[in-house]
Amino acid sequence: MPHCLQRCRKCSLVLSNEQRFKNFFSRFDVRIHVASLKQFEERIMTTYKELGLVNSKELFQKAVKGGYAIPAFNFNNLEQLQAIIGACVETKSPVILQVSSGARKYANSTLLKHLAKGAVDYAKELGCAIPIVLHLDHGDTFELCKSCIESGFSSVMIDGSHHPYDKNVELTKQVVEYAHKYDVTVEGELGVLAGIEDEVSSAVTHYTKPEEVEDFVKKTGVDSLAISIGTSHGANKFKPEQCTRSADGVLLPPPLRFDILEEVEKRIPGFPIVLHGASSVPAELVKIINANGGKLKDAVGIPEDQLRKAAKSAVCKVNIDSDGRLAMTAAIRKTLVDNPAEFDPRKYLGPARDQLKALYMHKVVNVLGSNNRA
Ligand SMILES: [Zn+2]
Repeated sequence: MPHCLQRCRKCSLVLSNEQRFKNFFSRFDVRIHVASLKQFEERIMTTYKELGLVNSKELFQKAVKGGYAIPAFNFNNLEQLQAIIGACVETKSPVILQVSSGARKYANSTLLKHLAKGAVDYAKELGCAIPIVLHLDHGDTFELCKSCIESGFSSVMIDGSHHPYDKNVELTKQVVEYAHKYDVTVEGELGVLAGIEDEVSSAVTHYTKPEEVEDFVKKTGVDSLAISIGTSHGANKFKPEQCTRSADGVLLPPPLRFDILEEVEKRIPGFPIVLHGASSVPAELVKIINANGGKLKDAVGIPEDQLRKAAKSAVCKVNIDSDGRLAMTAAIRKTLVDNPAEFDPRKYLGPARDQLKALYMHKVVNVLGSNNRA
């Protein structure tokens, strides 16, 4: 036997070239025999279980049965995370911490991983170990989803909705096959939402075609499905010409297409459904922003009574991001206008955090009904 062959010190197996290569570059104990690529990947990855997170499987099953929805709140900084965890601990709600690829770039993926782990410990410290999911919002490539899974995400969305149907199926299936090896749950999407949020944008709505959902779920193996029934990304969800106006001039958006939701539920009974773009764009927050130097024109969202109705159906995850942005911006603008000499970031980020926490407690208790479900 030529002496250059490297053997595993544990089991004496001669390592393949690939295993030797991986061992060489691995930051870990090179004496340990890497039996397969999967084992190697597991050695370099942070699993979500190590961070104390959970995937969404059980949470969704309970939510569908219980007629409520889990909040999916986006975060990319410390104050948002404090507000989310504070609100969900106080209301005893499970929560999905949602990170977009833009947020990953903004905050740094290593920091985000440690923030998520910190969130788990923080919830315990506050007195309630609520279930916490770390979820990638709008993953657009297999590589991005893989990278998130390797850095501790317990759930990912692969959004292939802008691709033709067959390509969407193929991409989603690829992500599901990888994710399920690590017990990570996957959200797919059928239909396209209008609006702009981070790197996701579309000028028009393409409603989900109910006749596609059964085939999509079967072929891809996804754990949940985002559908398009008239919600929309951003703070200007509808153009004024799409809306009617109330007597006092407030824009009233077109109602959600509950007929599509019902048709979807008939075809895949009990399957977890996700609503994106489900902020309500509260008029009082827009008013505070505009009264303090802001210029938000014709901002309009989804009325909360419609979201409440949706949360009672198979919709078990509701994404809320824009409302949180509005709440923080309103508090920051008002604080700075009221206190022009203030320059300590804690003095305006603190009130922004309090405003966000109050808004999210309201969403959990009055809109989604996920309180006391942790
Ligand atoms: Zn979205």
